[in-house]
Amino acid sequence: MAFNIWWIRRDLRLYDNPALMTAFKANEGYVIPLFILDPSLQISWESRRFVFLIKALHHLNADLRSRGSRLIMRQGNPLSVLTRLVHDLPINAIFAEADYSPYAIKRDNEIKKTLPLQTVGGVSLRDPDLVLKADGQPYTVFTPYSRAWRSLPLELAAPVAAPVQMRSVPQEIDSLDLPNAFELPYYLPTESEGQMRLESFINTKIENYALRRDRMDLEATSNLSPYLRFGLVSAQQAVRAVISYCAGLPDEDRQAGAYSWLNELIWREFYNAILFHFPTVLKEAFRPGLRQINWRVDTAGLQAWQSGQTGYPVVDAAMRQLQETGWMHNRARMITASFLVKDLLINWQEGEHWFMRQLLDGDPAANNGGWQWTAGVGTDAAPYFRVFNPVLQGQKFDPVGVYVRRWVPELAAVPDKYIHQPWLMPVLLQRDLHCRIGVDYPDRLVEHDRARERTLAAYQESLRASDTQHKIV
Ligand SMILES: Cc1cc2nc3c(=O)[nH]c(=O)nc-3n(C[C@H](O)[C@H](O)[C@H](O)COP(=O)(O)OP(=O)(O)OC[C@H]3O[C@@H](n4cnc5c(N)ncnc54)[C@H](O)[C@@H]3O)c2cc1C
Repeated sequence: MAFNIWWIRRDLRLYDNPALMTAFKANEGYVIPLFILDPSLQISWESRRFVFLIKALHHLNADLRSRGSRLIMRQGNPLSVLTRLVHDLPINAIFAEADYSPYAIKRDNEIKKTLPLQTVGGVSLRDPDLVLKADGQPYTVFTPYSRAWRSLPLELAAPVAAPVQMRSVPQEIDSLDLPNAFELPYYLPTESEGQMRLESFINTKIENYALRRDRMDLEATSNLSPYLRFGLVSAQQAVRAVISYCAGLPDEDRQAGAYSWLNELIWREFYNAILFHFPTVLKEAFRPGLRQINWRVDTAGLQAWQSGQTGYPVVDAAMRQLQETGWMHNRARMITASFLVKDLLINWQEGEHWFMRQLLDGDPAANNGGWQWTAGVGTDAAPYFRVFNPVLQGQKFDPVGVYVRRWVPELAAVPDKYIHQPWLMPVLLQRDLHCRIGVDYPDRLVEHDRARERTLAAYQESLRASDTQHKIV
């Protein structure tokens, strides 16, 4: 009996998985579920998302075993690993979900030259080549991209059920042991947890998502990003959930939350498309005029930012949330990114790398897009002169400091009035509350207004030095 290989990459799920189902149906269930640890991606092995991935593979293996199959894990260059498998075993075809990162495209194209690899479905709902301007060029601004994305017919296939029973994988086919990984207390990397989070978000939060999504003190977003990142939940399923939620609500006002959430899913597709069409964004700013900024080298400042010791409560809360949980709220990502780049004048790429190491959902496309956007150097970026004020942002999106107090316990007793600017507390009050600035909680690394001026000057200098100044909005 010959086998099909289901090559698992960013689709660690049995439910709603077209690649698995195609492999399964085309061959009467004789499927080898394969994961390859690729040394080219070794740098990401040191990251926290690698722990999420390994844990998720353990759970996927258990799910496969409960259906009579098992996970085969191999290590090495994917082309060599697959070539050897095809040589050693009767293999009809290899099925995998399409991935659009520059590395994945190059890898898959190489493999397709000699092996029967077929890509089915995709990491994005819409292939990056399907959402283009009338002249065939890619979009570089989100709003028209999103309009075009929505205007295309949304032919969502019915969800594909997970196979109930699978054929066993013969014992002679050996597998590496999955490495051990420590537990992740905040994110259980199982498919059923992803399903549960999606269902709970749709049932309890999506209705008010548009109104509450920016509030860091309310748990008003889906917290699905690590699950979407590794495909424990499919993007298709998330969009299907929006559509079926809206179908039950004739009143457009009540659909606003769902459409706002759909917009975020489209941001994900937008950044996948940007990376696909402009792979150099991983190395440099998208805007040529802002590639020559004279960044500061400030190791102590970078470390204070990383460890949540900047003296700005909302920045510190967010960086400590990241350190503790491996996740951070979207608004907090924008505030902390802005602080590193615009207040400390530290290269956005330092922040990009730190986030990629720390985030469970660390994704080259979304992370790079988020950093370039906040730094004001990317596609459809915030204008470079728009600088997030960490005090005002805190006051607006964490009005009474619930978020700050949760992650910065030194400030727990600080009155609401001072929670986002504790340095204004009278010295006697600081002493009474055991919250002396500079002793119990750090003093501000920089004074925001002055730092802002310094940054604007550095950006303007880069623009002046560039011939492309006129292109900058
Ligand atoms: C500096 C910076 C870095 C970021 N790095 C990442 C990253 O590495 N990985 C990542 O998945 N997201 C990243 N984001 C986007 C966003 O912050 C997270 O996707 C979101 O906070 C995840 O929380 P959630 O699942 O509750 O999102 P929800 O608000 O529930 O949104 C649903 C889903 O839509 C997608 N999404 C939402 N917002 C965005 C966005 N702006 N860009 C792309 N996709 C989005 C995510 O898959 C998310 O799970 C970054 C944003 C910034 C500003």
